[in-house]
Amino acid sequence: TKRIYDFSEGTGEMRKLLGGKGANLAEMSRLGLPVPTGFTITTPTCINYLENNESVSQLWSELDGAIERLEQRTGKHFDDPTNLLLVSVRSGSQFSMPGMMDTILNLGLSDETVEGFAELTGDAHFAYDCYRRLLQMFGEVVYAIPKIKFDNIIARQEEQSKKNVTDFSLTELKTIITKFHKLYEEHGLVFPQTATEQLRIAVTAIFESWNNKRAMTYRELHNIDHNLGTAVNVQSMVFGNSGEESGTGVVFSRNPSDGENELFGEFLINAQGEDVVAGIRTPQPIASLAEEMPNMYHELKKLVEQLETHYHDMQDIEFTIEDNRLYLLQTRNGKRTNQAALRIAVEMAEERLITKEEALLKVTPDMVNSTLHDVFSEESKARATLFSKGLGASPGAASGKICFDSEAAKALHLAGDPVILVRNETSPDDIEGMITSQAIVTNHGGMTSHAAVVARGMGTCCVTGCGNLVIDEEAGTVSVDRVTLEEGDWVSVDGTSGVIYLGVLEKESITTNHHLTTLLEWADTVSDLKVRANAETPQDLQTAMDFGAVGVGLARTEHMFFKKERLQEIRKVVLTEDEAEKQEALEKLLDYQRSDFEKMYHIVREKPMVIRLLDPPLHEFLPSSSKEIEVLAKEIEWDVSKLTNRIHSLEETNPMLGHRGCRLGVTLPELYQVQVKAIILSAMTLRRKGVPVVPEIMIPLVAEKEELSQIKAQLIKVIDDVMGREKCPFPYEIGTMIELPRACLIADDLAKEADFFSFGTNDLTQMTYGFSRDDATKFLSEYLEKGIISHDPFQTIDEHGVGELIKLAVARGRSIKPDMVIGVCGELGGDPTSIKFFQSIGLDYVSCSPFRVPLARLTAAQVGL
Ligand code: ADP
Ligand code: MG
Ligand code: MG
Repeated sequence: TKRIYDFSEGTGEMRKLLGGKGANLAEMSRLGLPVPTGFTITTPTCINYLENNESVSQLWSELDGAIERLEQRTGKHFDDPTNLLLVSVRSGSQFSMPGMMDTILNLGLSDETVEGFAELTGDAHFAYDCYRRLLQMFGEVVYAIPKIKFDNIIARQEEQSKKNVTDFSLTELKTIITKFHKLYEEHGLVFPQTATEQLRIAVTAIFESWNNKRAMTYRELHNIDHNLGTAVNVQSMVFGNSGEESGTGVVFSRNPSDGENELFGEFLINAQGEDVVAGIRTPQPIASLAEEMPNMYHELKKLVEQLETHYHDMQDIEFTIEDNRLYLLQTRNGKRTNQAALRIAVEMAEERLITKEEALLKVTPDMVNSTLHDVFSEESKARATLFSKGLGASPGAASGKICFDSEAAKALHLAGDPVILVRNETSPDDIEGMITSQAIVTNHGGMTSHAAVVARGMGTCCVTGCGNLVIDEEAGTVSVDRVTLEEGDWVSVDGTSGVIYLGVLEKESITTNHHLTTLLEWADTVSDLKVRANAETPQDLQTAMDFGAVGVGLARTEHMFFKKERLQEIRKVVLTEDEAEKQEALEKLLDYQRSDFEKMYHIVREKPMVIRLLDPPLHEFLPSSSKEIEVLAKEIEWDVSKLTNRIHSLEETNPMLGHRGCRLGVTLPELYQVQVKAIILSAMTLRRKGVPVVPEIMIPLVAEKEELSQIKAQLIKVIDDVMGREKCPFPYEIGTMIELPRACLIADDLAKEADFFSFGTNDLTQMTYGFSRDDATKFLSEYLEKGIISHDPFQTIDEHGVGELIKLAVARGRSIKPDMVIGVCGELGGDPTSIKFFQSIGLDYVSCSPFRVPLARLTAAQVGL
């Protein structure tokens, strides 16, 4: 097997073999872009080394060959002080794992060659700066000498010399280097003095870093296979730290935070490698490169555009400028916030860079959901006290208790508190703390710092570069001017504006987003599965319509009875023995319902709306406490004991299997009659105003054809009566909810009576499994843990059981009425996996809660693509 590919031998398709970084370096070389030359050791080589203990002798001889070729291409040589070849050694797996693995720069320098390198470049300061960086990176990455020890040596020298490390004199640099060598000695180590030895040790260290804790945590978090291994890229060095005409930076082809089509990023003059990302020096925005090095800026802009066009996606690019020459060191599809993902997909389609179908596939249902992210209300912002301001690195709004490290974050989180992690800067070691936080705030670093990148990836609100924070980790405080907060104090973080407020602010949800609207319009044109909403209050109905529901799949009338004065009337209907009192109560209920339905029809208008007649067991409407019973008894002039007995007589052992649904329609026909009368009358009001409403009346929990026939016959009588009296006939439909296994089995019979079907998946799942939906959580988690079931059937359709019943019911129903409209309502109507199933069996629509409508519209479109 071939273990090593020169960049010229690979392509962008070879991610699995060469890792993402290697494949893209190869692809960029192939496109003729300015990439320093190099080669890639393949991912299976890493796995063979780690898992199969493959001997390295074969690899080393291939590596020698690859270095020889590299020497030929560059005209430079390892260990040759007159013409020194230096390389970077860079890990890179199939999936990008930011900061998870470590890079070594300037590899090849030694005590001897650094002198030659100084002469060669004519810049001793630069040469020794490179060497001190190599000693530091090599010590940290390869030998795991604690970073803090290197930092301390530098810090002490900085104090003594009263200047920054970047301004050290040659002598000071040499002192540092001597001290670094001593540090190695203290750890029983020597820094290897030949390039080949350095390289071999570095390569195996990178292989081993595949299994470090950070990398494992990241893989577990993102469900990445542990068996992929990492590739190792060896690339000739270019130097961003060789003076004022040099620098290094990171640039995105579009803004990863809000998606705007603009060059976005940061750079540092006279800097190398991770300086930008590490957040140690605060970098300059890319726009100022246009002023400082206009030629470089324009060339960069051109290359970035070329890369974006080539990859058909937003690119995240690392570049280095060496003495006014631009090099590209990495490109990859950039991580972005969900909001940015949406905007980028839509705008790329509008720019014809991608098709509308491709745009629809670039956005996941989850993203859609979270773009409806929270913001603080304008009002509460106006009242709030500002604490600090930084860069809005990842949007969202979060309030929580502050803490200063990962451990504290986890502890607070476990205690059930929302957490805001406040740090000078984050590093990969903070991952676990970041996961458990509602928001992340950093003192240093810019929009491309570790904190910003990781937060955007996780969709967590984040503010970076709040430069005025003074964090005292030991004391557990953070101060701005004279305001000092302690661990556990509350703040509110606005990830869009970058403002941190004291205390807790009020939140609002965003409901409109111009790009989402456009994307979902495209979705509707390609999908054949419609999306309705479950809603009955005017506010929910309005939200549903704003989110683009084509109608209402389920309006639950009982929700409208749970108001004090209405409850009273329904109680009278159920309890009283006085016919006149009962009629009076029914009249009142008629008025209430009529005004409810009218309001609903005014919002929904001619769009279809399925109104379900009363469903829950009667006892839900009756008082249970003795105090309430007393009050009610007085009002209906009953004996307390008589009322208590009557209520007891209505109690049931299994209410969900009891006197509910259409069974109420049979035993208490007046209630259904009043509801239907109210529906018809309110529809009539709209009809008279010219809105062609066609009421859809749904009878729940039907198990027998005869239940449906009898109830329907009564209702039709009422309807005929009203329409006749008002001389205003119009069409309407009476359908049934299919939520019992028996109803599925006799769906052909039911179809003879029903104008439409709607599957109530909550009850159908409950009745099919025999799992009480109110109590099953007590054992479902154990069922999941033990692998008895693979997922919660109340969240995602049980295709083999419940799904089969639905399929069968659809087939039997349509065998009688081929064109019958069949939909589904209930939680599953808003679940992407279930939506796919419903589309595949030919349902006409799904109905879900208003906030899931956008997600459902996108999913419905994606299943057809
Ligand atoms: P990461 O995966 O953490 O981004 P990289 O391998 O991309 O690590 O390396 C980090 C940084 O090191 C790069 O952004 C680049 O600035 C610098 N670097 C890597 N290789 C070279 C090279 N051959 N010449 C100059 N700088 C390099
Ligand atoms: Mg990189
Ligand atoms: Mg039900």
